Amino acid sequence: MRIVIIGAGPAGLYLSLLLKRSRLDVSLQVVEQNAPDSTFGFGVVFSEDALEFLKQDDPEIFNAITPELERWRGIAIHHRGERVMLDGIGFTAIGRLQLLQLLQKQAYAEGVKVTFNRPVNDLSEFSDADMIVGADGVTSLVRRSDEAGFGTSISYLSNRFAWFGTTKVFDTLSQTFLETPHGPINAHHYRYSPTMSTFLVECTDQTFFASGFDRMSEDETRIALERVFAATLDGHALVSNRSIWRQFPIIHNERWFTGNKVILGDALHTAHFSIGSGTRLAIEDAIALARAIKASSDDARAAMAAYQAQRKPVLDKLVAAANASAAWYETFGEHMALPPYDFAMSYLSRTGRMDIERIRKVAPEFVAEWERRKSTA
Ligand SMILES: Cc1cc2nc3c(=O)[nH]c(=O)nc-3n(C[C@H](O)[C@H](O)[C@H](O)COP(=O)(O)OP(=O)(O)OC[C@H]3O[C@@H](n4cnc5c(N)ncnc54)[C@H](O)[C@@H]3O)c2cc1C
Repeated sequence: MRIVIIGAGPAGLYLSLLLKRSRLDVSLQVVEQNAPDSTFGFGVVFSEDALEFLKQDDPEIFNAITPELERWRGIAIHHRGERVMLDGIGFTAIGRLQLLQLLQKQAYAEGVKVTFNRPVNDLSEFSDADMIVGADGVTSLVRRSDEAGFGTSISYLSNRFAWFGTTKVFDTLSQTFLETPHGPINAHHYRYSPTMSTFLVECTDQTFFASGFDRMSEDETRIALERVFAATLDGHALVSNRSIWRQFPIIHNERWFTGNKVILGDALHTAHFSIGSGTRLAIEDAIALARAIKASSDDARAAMAAYQAQRKPVLDKLVAAANASAAWYETFGEHMALPPYDFAMSYLSRTGRMDIERIRKVAPEFVAEWERRKSTA
């Protein structure tokens, strides 16, 4: 079978690694538009057990990644000058570039060759491939080449976000919500290395225009945000890496393959960054597709159909939770009318997957304090 993978992000790299490792009779080509050491954004966060599935499936990758992870327990919600701790919830984080380089190393060890600095602008050069895999992210050319075939729908959240880094090293996953003279704004911030943190700023459409962010350059935005979050940053600067304002796309595809093309990861679906799952989902998609190819006895179409049939029901649930979280953030300014502990409870309940008993189990100290405050209110 001849397989061409477009894109060497987490999905494409991991799929190539699995296919090589399986020693199938596959001719594999992987093309990536960027250099191996180039990427967007800063660190990515995973829930504590998000990578546990790799422990059994892929101990080599698990053992390569886990020592590099930053770890902490608890989420700090900053609202109206109060810090509310949601105890008990564990997270890990790693620099996106570091994760990619670990995956590259493991993939090379299996014999994968990636052609870097090679943007694909026209898929016709691969028309003789049995399978063209779109691991090419949010703006996927593979998906755009046949949106009708994939049944693609894309909508954009109204909030704006910009992804920065900072040298301020935060002790835990933190969220700071502020009311500015121009409207509500928030930052998601957490360390992803001993010296760096992600600092992802989000604001409503109204705050975006009222603050004049639409008229600022990348550098002016960075300086303005350093002022807005001066107390949080504690004298540290923000660091840019193509940190422009964007609106998060919600991407959905009715069909995961069409003709000889199949998509996975962000090309197929997005998961709002507030649930920190996009990378894990991309890796899990790769596992599902590799498994289906392995079981298909050289029949590309059967493999793509099995991939969709097996993976879609699981994925739909996770994407629904991510979309519920995104919907909460779309109106976070309204939730900010709540006092800090009620606000934190609203935050924890936002995906609809945690009722009070589950929250009590996960964050017992927080719930005890929330109940104490309720009874004395
Ligand atoms: C602001 C923000 C914060 C996030 N935070 C987190 C987080 O905390 N945790 C988490 O798990 N996830 C997070 N994510 C999501 C995560 O980044 C993605 O879900 C993940 O990178 C998807 O992997 P992928 O391989 O599908 O796509 P990508 O990582 O986008 O990789 C696609 C690759 O394809 C290449 N490519 C694209 N087009 C072409 C072309 N025409 N020719 C050749 N190559 C091409 C690109 O250069 C890229 O290398 C966040 C996303 C955003 C936007």
